[in-house]
Amino acid sequence: MAKRSIETEFVHAGERAPLPQGLPNSTPIFANSTYSYESMEEAERVFTGDLKDYIYTRYGNPTVDSLQEAVRVLENGAVARAYASGMAALHAALLASDLAPGSVVLASRDLYGASFDLLFNVFGPFGVKTQLADFSDLDDLRARVAELKPRVLLGETISNPLLKVLDIAAVAEIAHSVGAKFIVDSTFATPFLARPLDLGADIVVHSATKYLGGSADAIGGIAVARDIADEAALTSAMKLAGGILSVWEAHSISRGLRTLALRLERQCSNAEKLAVELGKRHDIKLVHYPKFATDGVTEKVLREPFGGALVSIVLADDTREAAWRFMNALELIVRATTLGDVFTTVSHSASSSHRELTEKRRNTLGITEGLVRISVGIESVEDLLADIDQALVSVSEPGTVVTGSTIGGDQGAAA
Ligand SMILES: *Cc1c(COP(=O)(O)O)cnc(C)c1O
Repeated sequence: MAKRSIETEFVHAGERAPLPQGLPNSTPIFANSTYSYESMEEAERVFTGDLKDYIYTRYGNPTVDSLQEAVRVLENGAVARAYASGMAALHAALLASDLAPGSVVLASRDLYGASFDLLFNVFGPFGVKTQLADFSDLDDLRARVAELKPRVLLGETISNPLLKVLDIAAVAEIAHSVGAKFIVDSTFATPFLARPLDLGADIVVHSATKYLGGSADAIGGIAVARDIADEAALTSAMKLAGGILSVWEAHSISRGLRTLALRLERQCSNAEKLAVELGKRHDIKLVHYPKFATDGVTEKVLREPFGGALVSIVLADDTREAAWRFMNALELIVRATTLGDVFTTVSHSASSSHRELTEKRRNTLGITEGLVRISVGIESVEDLLADIDQALVSVSEPGTVVTGSTIGGDQGAAA
């Protein structure tokens, strides 16, 4: 070949060298958008599917595939597809559910706020009707399902912020009695604590932004289906709706996933100790923790002996003023409307995730102004208890100077 000019070498030198023979011991970041082929004939064989190979990163990418395969195995599913966020994963799961104008989605009334908005504001205009039910009242749910004949039931393994565990097997049976698909958002539980597909759910969805990544440095989502028949629809949601997971995020989340079991063991043990200790205090009226429930569902759904890594407390002074004063006084624990990170975070549900509801509605649900949700991290539990203790003392001392930033503002759509 003729000698190339320097302009050309800038573009091509060193590119497309053969890959090394040795197998990398962790999956590399394949940041390429597309692939090149030896010949047009080879390209044709790839496009027709005769030769299994990658084509274009929106269709599939080895770094993203590695994460998909890991979560598929962990959830014991037939197929997993990753998306740009938890919301994109839920959107894909709904697209894979044969919804048509007039179809009914029956959703748990304590669903994540943005999930309601997705159903009402995005699917609603296409004629999908969303109805709400209390998924912990199985008799009522059975009656509603018989009456409404929904196409889809949508629930969460652990509810926010009251941390009620869903009886997935019982709800799955009710859903299947009318041929409905049962989608479970298991973000709060992770595949380490619960395996919804094994209990009868059809599709499990995760915001990988939370526990799967675990370090507050990546946004992503994943949907895993029990039935391989859902592969085409989940893949087309990726290819055609186009909300694919970036390879960089896939790499971060995959790295997080490797330590999930270790992190959660510590987080759950910290959470349980906090829940027990905080339950003894006179300045806390109520502690919500799945292991304290007496309905037997926690043991049916969550891996023993764990009770999850979230604890919600209601201050004795059940007011927004007291909750914010307590939160502002925290020195170690971070004020943030998220969960699942290695560090402990607190959020005030009434002014963040549930701010769109009226106060009356929140009170009916039990989400009062003095409720603070704690996502427990991997720190030393003694340090966490000491921070909470000093912050609670400041609540009981009126006139304490409030420092630090306040939460709220326009963060309503966050966790
Ligand atoms: C955060 C969250 C989502 C949305 O996930 P994103 O990654 O923020 O899109 C959905 N469901 C639950 C339960 C969540 O906590």
